[in-house]
Amino acid sequence: MALSAKKQIQYNDDGSPFIRDWLNNREHILNSLLSNLDGMAYCCLLDAHWTMLYISEGCFPLTGYRPEDLMQGGRITFEEITFKEDRKHVRDSVQAAINAHRPFDIEYRIINSAGELRWVSERGKSILNPQGGIEALEGFIQDITSKKQSEQAILEAEQRYRSIFENTVEGIFQTTQDGHYLSANPALAKIYGFNSPDELISNLNDIEKQLYVDKNKRKEFSELMQLRGRVTNFESQVYRRDGNIIWISENARSVKDQNGNLLYYEGTVEDITERKENTAIIEYQATHDDLTGLPNRALLKDRLHQAIRNAERSQSQLAVVFVDLDQFKDINDSMGHHVGDQLLVTMAERLSSCIRDSDTVARPGGDEFVLLLSNLHSIDALSHTLQRILVTVAQPCHIDPREFVVTCSLGISMFPDDGKDIDTLLKHADNAMYKAKQAGKNNFQFYTRELNAMLLERLELEYHLRRAIKNDEFELYYQPKMCLYSGRITGLEALIRWHSPLQGMVSPAKFIPIAEESVLIEQIGEWVLEEACRQSVYLHQQTGHVLPISINISPRQFYNPHLPEMIEQVMAQSHLHPSCLELEITEGTLVSQPSKFTDILKRLKSLGIRLAIDDFGTGYSSMSYLKSFPIDHLKIDQSFVRNLEEDTADQAILRAIVALGKNLGLKVIAEGVETESQKNFLAAIGCDQIQGYLLSRPMSMKDLVEFINARP
Ligand code: C2E
Ligand code: MG
Ligand code: MG
Repeated sequence: MALSAKKQIQYNDDGSPFIRDWLNNREHILNSLLSNLDGMAYCCLLDAHWTMLYISEGCFPLTGYRPEDLMQGGRITFEEITFKEDRKHVRDSVQAAINAHRPFDIEYRIINSAGELRWVSERGKSILNPQGGIEALEGFIQDITSKKQSEQAILEAEQRYRSIFENTVEGIFQTTQDGHYLSANPALAKIYGFNSPDELISNLNDIEKQLYVDKNKRKEFSELMQLRGRVTNFESQVYRRDGNIIWISENARSVKDQNGNLLYYEGTVEDITERKENTAIIEYQATHDDLTGLPNRALLKDRLHQAIRNAERSQSQLAVVFVDLDQFKDINDSMGHHVGDQLLVTMAERLSSCIRDSDTVARPGGDEFVLLLSNLHSIDALSHTLQRILVTVAQPCHIDPREFVVTCSLGISMFPDDGKDIDTLLKHADNAMYKAKQAGKNNFQFYTRELNAMLLERLELEYHLRRAIKNDEFELYYQPKMCLYSGRITGLEALIRWHSPLQGMVSPAKFIPIAEESVLIEQIGEWVLEEACRQSVYLHQQTGHVLPISINISPRQFYNPHLPEMIEQVMAQSHLHPSCLELEITEGTLVSQPSKFTDILKRLKSLGIRLAIDDFGTGYSSMSYLKSFPIDHLKIDQSFVRNLEEDTADQAILRAIVALGKNLGLKVIAEGVETESQKNFLAAIGCDQIQGYLLSRPMSMKDLVEFINARP
């Protein structure tokens, strides 16, 4: 490179290098440089004309005038080509710089020889004589018109965008990742209920907590941003400043620096509350029956689909019930649609009142309704709902000025037994409904024969049970309890017996659960209490012994708030001392509502009566509740006694329960004791009392009197 450079050097004729001469001629260099510069160098007087003493070649491209045109005595002065409106500004600025002893740097307009307005930038300074006076000015002027134009274009674009930002109806925002606003436009402030963007920015500083109704939404937003760098039509519910909830849709992207680090999010917000509401209305109209407001066929199928999936998951049963109004067609035809419509509305309300909120009543069309009853735990509960429907629908219905009685026929199919899919279940329920019509209307029929038979038997039993009290078909049997230390009878348990004229002696294990499903149990319970109190007095008269009597209280009775009052009344009537009455409450009763249980026990205890936990060991796994309950007796469930001779586990449990009872100061009674060896074992481990066939089976009052009188 150095070698080839050397080769190119040119020499004069005298052998001296050409460049040396050229460099020595400075003016030459300066002129050459100046003429190559894009602009005009000058030297001028500080006078009214800016009289030019020197002008470089750049003058022509800049102004369209030759340097000689502008020089002293030329055809035009620089003052003249300076745009009129800018002349004062130029002069003031130059003067101010001179006064401050610094160079000047100004922008202004000139009019070139073609009469066009051009923007120029001028930089210069004063030339001082040795006395410090100003001799002249020198400087450099450049055309900056195109720079000015693009600046102007940027300014205008910025103004246009600012106008969009300020005036659009969409909210626009920039937010940091941690949930602060960097900027917001007036529309966003308005959407969120603030008076200005500033108010929004200073009040809303934790988007995750303050803005979204669903607290997970901001996380979802950030995750989408991380994954895709943007969110589109991101819909969510947000709180406005006044606490009202609105729907918004966001479109946003993440803005990153060159290294890919997130700087902020920016995007738009649209208030879509109205659209959402309209969609909801349209959706509602598409899925509900106009007349009754009930779900229509489409929604019914949807709900049924859902219910089948839930039932599969929870392994529970689901009933699909077809309801057909028996006399609807006649009424509608004879009285007109107006009456028919009113009737349907009334029936829709009645059906809805018979089911739980979580169940569905739909009107797929005409005078047909379909019910979906899920989470069925017993067929009895279902049968009660069905009966309630029959009774409720058949209430007189007033449509002025008339009164109608309409009955209905119900057909039921069960998931999973009668079908596993929507169409089969609906078809089978429909078939069953026709069976109900054929069977004389105003009744229900199951698709499955066995279920029909079973329910029929239940219904019959219940039907007869209703009459049993009136017909005096109940009797109380008594089973004595014995103290294991003294061998003395310590009390009696009253056990109900039903002499059914049709079925003979029915076990309480069979009919008490049925009675428990309705108010029947309360009537029976009251009868038992009255009878036991009355007979206790009778027993005293016949034997001279006062023996406490225990009666069994079922869960429904127990949770009836009037139970304590009722007991108080009955005791007062029979003059029985409270200490002679004991209530046996099964352990299973308290499982459902332990807290309520304590309150009721305390109220009962305050009457002075005694309380026992029946079937202890079967119902409740936690023993801690025993501490806080005002109980006198624990009755160990028979199942632990039955096999105790062979089963060492049962022995261990019995030992533990007895020890527990002792520690808590409770008397422990073992039920179902049938053999001597069971009795001996129980005596050995410190159990207080026994009850069971070994001592005596439950017996009638007549036999009991003999039993007691026969004892030493
Ligand atoms: P429970 O209160 O646990 O009554 C004990 C049951 O065990 C009685 O059956 C009794 O006859 C039977 N039993 C007594 N000793 C023995 C024995 O040594 N071996 C065997 N295998 N069994 C024995 P019962 O009378 O059929 O009563 C069954 C259940 O019906 C009672 O269980 C009680 O929960 C309920 N119950 C009976 N009477 C009434 C009542 O008046 N009201 C209510 N709410 N429930 C009652
Ligand atoms: Mg009992
Ligand atoms: Mg028991």
